[in-house]
Amino acid sequence: MAVKVMIPTPLRPFAGKQASVEVDGRTVGEALDALTGRYQELRKHLYAEGGRLRSFVNVYVNEEDIRHLQKDETPLREGDTISIVPSIAGGRPQPQTAASDPVPPLSKEEVLRYSRHLIMPEVGMEGQLKLKRAKVLLVGSGGLGAPLALYLAAAGVGRLGLVDFDRVDFTNLQRQVLYTTGDVGRPKLEAARRRLTDLNPEIQIDTYETHLTSENALDILRPYDIIVDGTDNFPTRYLVNDASVLLGKPNVYGSIFRFEGQVSVFGAPDGPCYRCLYPEPPPPGLVPSCAEGGVLGVLPGIIGSLQAMEVLKLVLGNGNPLAGRLLVFDALEMSFRELKLRKNPECPICGPHRTITELIDYYEFCGVRGEEAPPPSVQVPEMTARELRERLSRGENIFLLDVREPHEYQICNLGGYLIPLGDLPRRVQEINASGPVVVHCRSGARSAEAVDFLRKAGFSRVWNLKGGILAWSDEVDPSVPKY
Ligand SMILES: [Zn+2]
Repeated sequence: MAVKVMIPTPLRPFAGKQASVEVDGRTVGEALDALTGRYQELRKHLYAEGGRLRSFVNVYVNEEDIRHLQKDETPLREGDTISIVPSIAGGRPQPQTAASDPVPPLSKEEVLRYSRHLIMPEVGMEGQLKLKRAKVLLVGSGGLGAPLALYLAAAGVGRLGLVDFDRVDFTNLQRQVLYTTGDVGRPKLEAARRRLTDLNPEIQIDTYETHLTSENALDILRPYDIIVDGTDNFPTRYLVNDASVLLGKPNVYGSIFRFEGQVSVFGAPDGPCYRCLYPEPPPPGLVPSCAEGGVLGVLPGIIGSLQAMEVLKLVLGNGNPLAGRLLVFDALEMSFRELKLRKNPECPICGPHRTITELIDYYEFCGVRGEEAPPPSVQVPEMTARELRERLSRGENIFLLDVREPHEYQICNLGGYLIPLGDLPRRVQEINASGPVVVHCRSGARSAEAVDFLRKAGFSRVWNLKGGILAWSDEVDPSVPKY
């Protein structure tokens, strides 16, 4: 049977950079064998030791999850589409709005402000008062949080909570449309409050300038009817999911990577939660974050707007929410695909035999200790930027190896010899092994892997440039741009 396998963005580098691959197979297992036979690198991303499909990777035939069909044995028909859907750095739920929460009637200004809602029978005065009574918490005020906050504030959601601890950075402005150039360096929530109050002074804005943690999550989430997940890291995403499930609140989920996004609504009474979809997070470093992998500017606007639309529908009690459905958007193809999600009876937090009854340590659960960046996975000899400069200026014959991608080399380079990390195994003979070798990348993580590889390949005098090109810019030559 010839079938099409859809390859998600994070795995495309391991499948010849293709969006889909045609393979033959009578079952899903056979088709994936054929695929990973052709692309060996893909195998270790899809399968754990012992040949079990990794639990942060789901496989669908057409729109059904194979866990609910015959798993690997699921038979295929000619022309079927297999989708590989990894987790990315993302019934009818009823928000627990007390319908009787007293809110004052709309003022004359509010009637004017919301008139395009009021003249729609699907919203009307009743719906607008529901919006005014609604309490919505946005976790994260970055790429997804920006359109979410703007649209929900504009639409008249009466109480909007924002959780974030960051300051506005120049690199945020390419997509985080809540902020302006003048906001760079200010706390995001300070800038957000000013912008949103300008947009709609009629609403209440609560700001929580903190990391969401296992200690504070339940207290922060409790006053709100709907939780919106606009996070960019796995520990917070699992924390938001678990806290929402424990409190019985709907969780409007969105996630983005490069030019691909996912949206769903978790926490419907009989609907799945994020853990039903992905019981475990990927190991640190395997799925890059937007800071490492990049994101196309408009994408968070699209995904965040879809989340905002789901929030409005939940508040109004109108339409068919994305509960039990995962919407997968590919901006390059301009395609939306919809996959069915089912509640996992074995789910450790929302299943009948749940084993998680309180919030846990999510950094430990995700294998990430400390803050955002995972620690380098390997320990290798390092050289500082200053030491490298001194040795080069003494005229030492150092082979400087750059393991970034060609498009990164175009942004800035130190004149090193370019071999992208993925090409290193087959191009290793191009490296002059007679003298010392110093390897660098942007921040020092990829180059650490390269040094580890070279040492195993027999290179004895090889160092990692500590902190990569970023450190070089900080310590040696500020004219080298950081990105
Ligand atoms: Zn679940």
